[in-house]
Parts: sequence; C-alpha cells; structure tokens
Amino acid sequence: MAAVAEPAEEGLIVVGGGIGGLATALAVAGAGWSVRVLERSPDFREIGAGIQLAPNATRLLDRWGLLDRLVDVGVLPSRLVLRSAMSGRELTCLHLDEKFRETYKGPYIVLHRSDLLAALVDACRSRPTITLEVDKTVTEVLEDGDGVEVTCSDGSRRTASALVGADGLWSAIRRRIVDDEPICSGFVSYRGAVPLEAVSEHPSLDDVVAWIGPGLHFVQYPLRRGELYNQVAVFRSDEYARGEEDWGTPEELDRRFASCCPQVVAALPALRRDNRWVMYDREPVASWSSGRITLVGDAAHPMLQYLAQGACQAFEDAACLGAALQGRGADEVAAAFGGYSDARSPQASRVQRRARVWGDIWHVDGVGALLRDELLLQRDPYDYRHIEWLYGPTASCSWRDA
Ligand SMILES: Cc1cc2nc3c(=O)[nH]c(=O)nc-3n(C[C@H](O)[C@H](O)[C@H](O)COP(=O)(O)OP(=O)(O)OC[C@H]3O[C@@H](n4cnc5c(N)ncnc54)[C@H](O)[C@@H]3O)c2cc1C
Repeated sequence: MAAVAEPAEEGLIVVGGGIGGLATALAVAGAGWSVRVLERSPDFREIGAGIQLAPNATRLLDRWGLLDRLVDVGVLPSRLVLRSAMSGRELTCLHLDEKFRETYKGPYIVLHRSDLLAALVDACRSRPTITLEVDKTVTEVLEDGDGVEVTCSDGSRRTASALVGADGLWSAIRRRIVDDEPICSGFVSYRGAVPLEAVSEHPSLDDVVAWIGPGLHFVQYPLRRGELYNQVAVFRSDEYARGEEDWGTPEELDRRFASCCPQVVAALPALRRDNRWVMYDREPVASWSSGRITLVGDAAHPMLQYLAQGACQAFEDAACLGAALQGRGADEVAAAFGGYSDARSPQASRVQRRARVWGDIWHVDGVGALLRDELLLQRDPYDYRHIEWLYGPTASCSWRDA
C-alpha cells in the first residue's frame, strides 16, 4: 500500500453524509475528535419517504439533544399493527404507550426522512469541530501507519488519522475490508409520502399498520404531525424469478396486489410509483474494521428493512464508535476501531439475520400463514418477549444507553 504523502491531519474522515455518517460525526465529535464528512451529492438529502425509529435509536437521539425537535415534527404512533393483507383482519398489535416508553426509556417515533436528516445536519453544523463538505466523491483511499489520505473525483485530497466508511449498501470502502457483494432478495419496494388528503383509504391515523400476505406487504403510517401519509408496498417479483430483465415494474405491482383485501386495493392509487427500490442485504461479517479504517451503517451491515432497524443500528454504531474513541489518541485508533467492531458486530449480525426471518414470517403462504395467524391472534399486545433483544438496554454494547 502506498504511503500517505503529507503528514496526516489529526481527526477523522467520514465518507458519506447519510443518516449513519452524520450520526457518526456527531458522536465522534462528542468524544473530542474533529471530523470531516465528505458527501458525494451536491447537498445532504434523503428520499421523500418516512422512517420508523425504535427506542434503541430514540434513546441516543435524546442523548445527542435531537429528540425534542424530532418529536415536534414527527408522530408518536399509538400502536404497531399487523393485519392480514388478504382478509383485512387485525392479527396482533404492540402498544407503544407509556408502559412501552417507560420500559424502553424512549418513544417509538415515525418521521419524514428529510426532517431527520435536517436535524442531523443542523446539529453537525453547530459543532465547530465538524466540517461538512458536499460534492466530494471519494475515489481513492491510502492508509499507512500514521494516517489516511483520500482523493476525491475533483482531484482534491484530504488527510486524517483515520477513516470511517459510511457510504451505504454499495460501499467502496467496505471492499478494502470484506470481499463480498450485496445479495438481491428478489423483492422490490415502492414508497413515498403524500399529503394526507391524497389518500382516500387508510386505517387509524394513530397507528403504524403493516398488511402482510403471501410474498408481499403494505405499510401505512402518518408523518409530520399527521399532515403527510407514508405508504410502502413491497413484493416478491415473479418477473425476477423468471430472469426477466425489467422486473418489479408498476404493472407487476398492480397485478401482485390485485387480490388483496379492499382496504389495501383502495389505498394503492395514492402509492408513489416514481421510484422503486430493489431489496438487498449482505451476509453478516464478524469484523468490519482494519487498521485505521472502519465501517458504520449500511456499509457495515446492510439488512432487509423488515424490522425497520437499518438506521437504528447505524445510530448504535455511531454511539458505540464515539465511546470507543473517547479519551483515545490517534495512535490508539486501530485498537479503538477493533473494539468497536467486536462490540457491535454480534448484535448487528443478529438483526441482519432476524430481519430475513421476520420477512419470511410476513410473506409465508398456505398452511404456514394459517399457523402464523393463529399464533398472532393469541398474542398479548403487551408481550415484549420478541422485542426485548432489540429495543432493550441489554441488547447491544453497554455504551449505547443514555
Ligand atoms: C424500504 C426501506 C425502508 C426502510 N425503513 C427503515 C425504518 O423504518 N427504520 C430504520 O431504522 N431503517 C429503515 N431502513 C434502512 C435505512 O434507510 C438505512 O439503513 C439507512 O438509511 C442507512 O444509512 P447510511 O448512512 O448507512 O447509508 P446511506 O443512507 O446509503 O448513505 C450513504 C451516503 O454515502 C454517500 N456516498 C456513497 N459513496 C460515496 C463516496 N464514494 N464518496 C462520498 N460519499 C459517498 C451517499 O451519497 C449517501 O449519502 C429502510 C430501508 C429501506 C430500503
């Protein structure tokens, strides 16, 4: 590996200014490090859709002083509800009330992604030790015993003591550490937020509702104090299974959802179809750190979205990395990165694996679906056994709790 040309600037470079990169900048700056975030887009932006954040994330947002602002522009739903996409029947729910908030020391919140990103950007801008740079596509990284040097597509160079790859599912930084590729699930998603008035059919405006059925599901919830409504349709593409080139099209979407219950069919016209997302994840890995380079968020542990945890896990990464770097200097960074990855990867890997299983449970057909529904119908809405590992204070590294 080539040596870094200039003496490295102290501090950290974060490649990627998405939710994971900005949260990392905040947490690491809080630990006394200076941070430079390099984002390839001309501005910091997120897609026009909603995001759910569970208490394992909201506890951290509270610690970083962002929760009140987010609660103000978001919605605190009353329940998470599972309904059959075929019969329309409510199968089970989880109450997100005071008891839930007390147990997990934080609320469950749903937000417009741009509101979340704006809060993170503002918090980063308010810290003098964080530098945010846009229009910076990192194309090359050099590392030696003293630091790292990155080159961007415009020819500019930046040096630092260490680097964090927060560059998402298709991470180029990950390639330096892990030799693998994203795995296509064959599922595709259409999603977006629309004005509430545009949706003629919706269930209770207090709930996050997931309609589940064979090889598909449909999620609905209100956003931005109830002014917007978020809808997500996800289905397994038969066209993909047949090897067709253009698969998961809006026409296939309509065909796949045509046999759903009247409530779901009636909600489809308001679904945004201007963009589709193919669902990928990767196999979990035991370590995502090497020397002065580490990964956070989707670059480290991309997962299927069925547990609504990708961003929540990125927040946990950020907090854990901040704690690992606290009180440590540039010469200890490799050890701090190793400790961070050892502490985080078992839990993040578990979430990656369980997200796949949870998707299988949602999408099962035939007798499996009958058995699932019977079990769900008997479930106590205050039974926390299946969320404790994920939302509970013992679920991840000890540093994450406020
Ligand atoms: C349909 C769907 C629903 C979801 N719902 C939820 C949910 O409800 N709750 C939840 O917690 N999670 C959810 N997720 C997951 C969540 O969106 C992701 O886990 C999270 O956004 C990952 O953030 P990130 O910052 O790691 O990656 P990204 O958001 O992908 O950010 C990566 C950033 O790096 C930049 N970048 C890439 N390459 C370079 C480069 N070479 N140089 C400079 N910059 C670069 C990109 O432009 C981008 O800004 C969902 C995902 C999907 C697909």
